Amino acid sequence: MKKHNGITNSVLDLVGDTPLIRLNKITKELNGEFLAKYEAFNPGHSMKDRIATHIVEQAEKRGILKKGSKVIETTSGNTGFSIALVCIIKGYECILAVNSKASKGKINMLRSMGAKVYVCPANVSADDPRSYYQVAKRLHEETADSVYINQYFNDLNSEAHYLSTGPEIWEQTKGKVTHVVVASGTGGTISGVGKYLKEQNPDVKILGVDAFGSILKKFHETSDFDTNEIYPYRIEGLGKNLIPSATNFEVIDVFEKVTDEAAAHKARELALMEGLFTGYTSGAVVQATTQYAEQGYFDKNSVVVMILPDHGSRYMEKIYSDEWMREQGFFDSKKHEKNALEII
Ligand code: PMP
Repeated sequence: MKKHNGITNSVLDLVGDTPLIRLNKITKELNGEFLAKYEAFNPGHSMKDRIATHIVEQAEKRGILKKGSKVIETTSGNTGFSIALVCIIKGYECILAVNSKASKGKINMLRSMGAKVYVCPANVSADDPRSYYQVAKRLHEETADSVYINQYFNDLNSEAHYLSTGPEIWEQTKGKVTHVVVASGTGGTISGVGKYLKEQNPDVKILGVDAFGSILKKFHETSDFDTNEIYPYRIEGLGKNLIPSATNFEVIDVFEKVTDEAAAHKARELALMEGLFTGYTSGAVVQATTQYAEQGYFDKNSVVVMILPDHGSRYMEKIYSDEWMREQGFFDSKKHEKNALEII
C-alpha cells in the first residue's frame, strides 16, 4: 500500500491506495453506510493502473521484458491508457490494437501517452487476420521479448486486485465491510476483491453489476450461454458478450442489471450531489446499489463499499453531453434546468 512519504520516485508509486469516500446525499434514503472507492485517484485515472503495473512487473520478474520490449493489448479504453503510462516510466514500447469505432479523442489520448496504435476494421470477425485480436496476437508471436496483456483471459488481472484492492478495502474498513458492489467486465476486479475479502470473512457479500444486453448475469445463474441475452448497449467497460476466463463466478453472490439510462443519470447525480466526477460504470454501480437496497440487501449495520472504476473526463462526449443524452432519449430537462446553458 502506501509506497511513499510525500516524494515519489515516479507516478507509478501513486498506483493504488485510493481513498474510501463516504457518500452523504445520494444514498441518504438507504439503510447502511455507503463508501465509494474512488479509483479515479490512480495516476491514470482508473483502476486499470493496478493490472497494468502488476502484469508488466510479473513479466519483468520472469525475465521476459528488456528495455524497449513491446507490451501489447487490444483496447482503446482505460487499460490502454494505463499500459501506456507504465511503459513510459519503465521504458517499454506500448502497442495497442483498437477497432475503427474508437473515437479520435481516445486515439489522440493514447498517442499522447506514447502508444503505437493500430486501427483495425470493426466489421470483421474475431478470426479475420485484420481484426484487432489477430493483429495483437500476430505482433506478440512475431516479437520474442513481448508481453500480451490479454486482460479477459489473464489470471494476473484478478491477482492484481487480490493483492491490492481487496486488502485496501479490508484495512480501510477495519474488517467491517459487509458488502462490495462491483462492475464486472473482464471480471478481474470483482474476482480478485471477492476472493480476498471472502478469505478474510466468508460472510462478505460480493454484489455484481451487469448491463442489459450482456450475458454475465444469466451465465452466473444458469451456466447457459444464452445468445438471446446479447444485444447492443451504451455503457462501456461493463458486461460482456463472451465469458472471460479472468472471471471467477464462484466468489460472486449475485448480479444486478442496470439500464443505460439509469446509469447515465446516476453518474450525473454523483457529480451534482457528491462532487464526484466519475465514469459511466460508476453511475451503474451506484444505480445497482440503489436497486440492491430496494430489494432489502442492506440494513442499518451494513457497510457497503462501491468501487467507482474511473474518472468522468473520458465521457465528455457521452453522458456529460446534453446533446448525446438527448440523442439517446435520456435527457430530462427538469433534472438539468438549474444550470441550463445561457448563451449571451
Ligand atoms: N468500468 C470501467 C470503466 C472499465 O473500463 C472496466 C474494465 N473493462 C470495468 C468497469 C470492469 O472492470 P473489470 O474488467 O475488472 O471487470
